[in-house]
Order: sequence, then structure tokens, then C-alpha cells
Amino acid sequence: MNLLVLQPDDIVAPGRALVQGRRLEHVRLVHRARPGDSLRVGELGGRLGEAQIVRLSPQVLELDYCLNKPPPAPVPVTVLLALPRPKKVRRILRSLAALGIKRIVLTNSFRVEKSFWQSPLLKPAAVREQLLLGLEQAGDTVLPEVIHEPLFRPFVEDRLPALAQGCRRLVAHPLGAEPCPHALNEPLVLAVGPEGGFIPYEISRLQEYGFTAVHLGARVLCVETAVLSLLGRLLP
Ligand code: SAM
Repeated sequence: MNLLVLQPDDIVAPGRALVQGRRLEHVRLVHRARPGDSLRVGELGGRLGEAQIVRLSPQVLELDYCLNKPPPAPVPVTVLLALPRPKKVRRILRSLAALGIKRIVLTNSFRVEKSFWQSPLLKPAAVREQLLLGLEQAGDTVLPEVIHEPLFRPFVEDRLPALAQGCRRLVAHPLGAEPCPHALNEPLVLAVGPEGGFIPYEISRLQEYGFTAVHLGARVLCVETAVLSLLGRLLP
């Protein structure tokens, strides 16, 4: 945790917060902080700054804080992810939040196991927890929006055109004709397939809507490795 993200319930008065639970444990047991020490803090959705520890016990962390700078700039990339196995989704969401991605679309595809959509790991509270961990890791305060689109075709036909308006559109596909470009400095929608890959119909529908199929070389990567490698290459 490189940033303690203060949530509305933590704030007891202007510039004063009481923190409990996981973040308190982390400050006590991992940071091994003491009263008087400083911590980097930010307000959820807001500014960053410094806090001083006023009180620290196994029950509560009391902070005096001052916020004076904006969070890091958002990354203008929407990641469109054919729903991976829920345990992997958790890690991917955390990494995407840490990378500064602010819109993530979890979509269906022919090779997505239908039961994945029922997973408790996709419930809003579980998703939020992973996103917060990513923000804490990277020092950001702005939660990404996570959109669930459990029907591929209506999503692509009815909502994707507006969502991708003005953006370059890439679909990662091991059989893509072009190598994935480097360091793009423009708004982008990046689609990544499920563990079994997109079927040809899905690739051709995405191409109809302006997506270019790009590859990362001869190795077929698991979804998690592929997403992070793609973003490592695409972000400037
Ligand atoms: N057999 C599947 C196929 O051929 O599409 C493999 C799917 S791969 C495990 C899961 C997803 O990661 C793919 O749909 C693609 O979006 C992305 N991916 C994995 N390796 C890739 C590569 N070398 N180039 C581009 N995308 C890749």
C-alpha cells in the first residue's frame, strides 16, 4: 500500500480521519508506523497529500491530513475483456486500476464459461476491493468504471460504437495480421479474448466495427500475461 485511500466513512472532520480494518493492519504491521510518522494519503476520487499519525492502536488509526495535489492523469484506454476465470479477473482488475485504466468492460464471448458470470468475485463490493488495492498500489484515487456486458452481440452492435467513438480500436489476437503497435498517444479501445480465444465470428464483428487484429508475436500468452504485455507495449 503506497497510498492510503481515505473513504467518505473514514473522514470524521475536515482534515481528520479514523481508519480501521485492513488499512489499519497494513499501517501497523507492514509499515510498522508510529504516532508522529507521515503517510501518503488521498481522498477517494479526489486529491493526494500527506497525513500525520495522531493515534495508532490495534483498534484505530487517527490521522491529521492535508491534500494538495491532483491524482495522476488517467490513461485514455478502455479495456474490453472477454470475461476470464473470476480468480484471474481479480488480479487483472487490480493491475488495470494500478496502470491508470479508467474504463473496463467485461463482456461475454462464445468461449466464456457461462457460470463465470455468477461468481461472487464479480459482485460490486468484491470488484471495488480489487480496484482499491490497485489504486493503493499505484498512488491513485480515482476508481475505474467496470461495465458488465453479458451479451456479446447486442453490446457490439448497440453500445460499442458510442463507447469507442473517436478511439483507435485494436483486438489482440494471436492470428492477427499486424504486430501490436508501440507507445500510442491517443485514446484507444483494446479488446482481449477469453482463455479459449475469440471465435472467427467475434473477430470479424469487431473488425466490422473498426477493430484491427494485432498480435504480440508467435507465443500464445494467457489472458493475464497478454493484457499486461499489450498495455506495456501500447502505453507511452
Ligand atoms: N487458442 C486461443 C487463440 O488462438 O485465440 C488462445 C487464447 S489466449 C490464451 C487469450 C487471449 O489473450 C487471446 O484471445 C488474445 O486476445 C490474447 N493473446 C494471447 N496471446 C497473444 C498473442 N501472441 N498476440 C495477441 N494476443 C494474444
